[in-house]
Amino acid sequence: PPVPSVPLNDGRSIPQLGYGVFKVDAEVTADVTGQALRAGYRHVDTARIYGNEDGVGQALRDSGLDRDDVFVTTKLWDDAHAHDDAIAAAEASLERLGIEQVDLYLIHWAAPSQGKYLEAWRTLIELRERGLVRSIGVSNFPLPQLEEIIEATGEVPAVHQIELHPYFPQAELREVHARHGIVTESWGPLGQGKSDLLENPVITEAAAAHDATPAQVVLAWHLAHGIVALPKSVTPERIVENLAAAELRLTAEEIAAIDGLDRGEAGRGGTDPATK
Ligand code: NAD
Repeated sequence: PPVPSVPLNDGRSIPQLGYGVFKVDAEVTADVTGQALRAGYRHVDTARIYGNEDGVGQALRDSGLDRDDVFVTTKLWDDAHAHDDAIAAAEASLERLGIEQVDLYLIHWAAPSQGKYLEAWRTLIELRERGLVRSIGVSNFPLPQLEEIIEATGEVPAVHQIELHPYFPQAELREVHARHGIVTESWGPLGQGKSDLLENPVITEAAAAHDATPAQVVLAWHLAHGIVALPKSVTPERIVENLAAAELRLTAEEIAAIDGLDRGEAGRGGTDPATK
């Protein structure tokens, strides 16, 4: 299935659907990531803290795909924001993934209370200059910290990966991203199973109208907004189903109705990045 790519502000591009492997057990990661690659995903989102980078690397090698055909993202954990720690963490992630460069390296959380995110951002710039990573970005940055790293370095993240789904659509950050040319990535795009999102009548009615599933409707909504979505599933049928969302075109009315599901701060399912 043809998954569109969106341009990044550094001249590269990124497939709009990625296979996310948060909470995927290390022992099954190579298998399920392999299934995703066979289904047609060309973008995998992992992190050091997920403990499954080596399984992702195994799947990449087993797939027989060219290295440059798959967009690989991993992330710098909170305990390694200091310069030398961040360099070592990136090298260790590459070692576990078995590749020479990741496509995208993200600071996993700003963790403002530690106060080291600017040092981490400067180090990601260095990692890109040294060729260990191709594009750099951030995840879970509150607006003040996002603006601070841009002002301090003049370097705009290519991507900001944040919790985002119809109950928590992050209007304010998306507008700032649009102004700066930052691509928004949605984590928990399906709501992580923490709410009734996939049973909401606005979603199920659109699904019925298109002979699609609720998950496909939600993913098609992300894509319609130009957002990169990273659905996770270890169920073979759902892995395929989620990718096929790329072919679903919602009407403007359906998109507007889903936009109307915004619950503001009450819609947040995960940790508020400002509190870390
Ligand atoms: P998600 O919204 O993708 O939800 C995943 C869950 O939804 C699955 O476990 C399953 O129960 C259900 N599901 C999946 N496909 C379905 C389908 N077709 N029909 C019905 N139910 C379905 O949540 P997530 O895994 O937390 O987030 C996706 C990815 O985002 C992660 O795997 C990870 O790569 C990334 N992520 C990043 C951060 C971060 O801090 N940067 C945090 C969480 C997740």
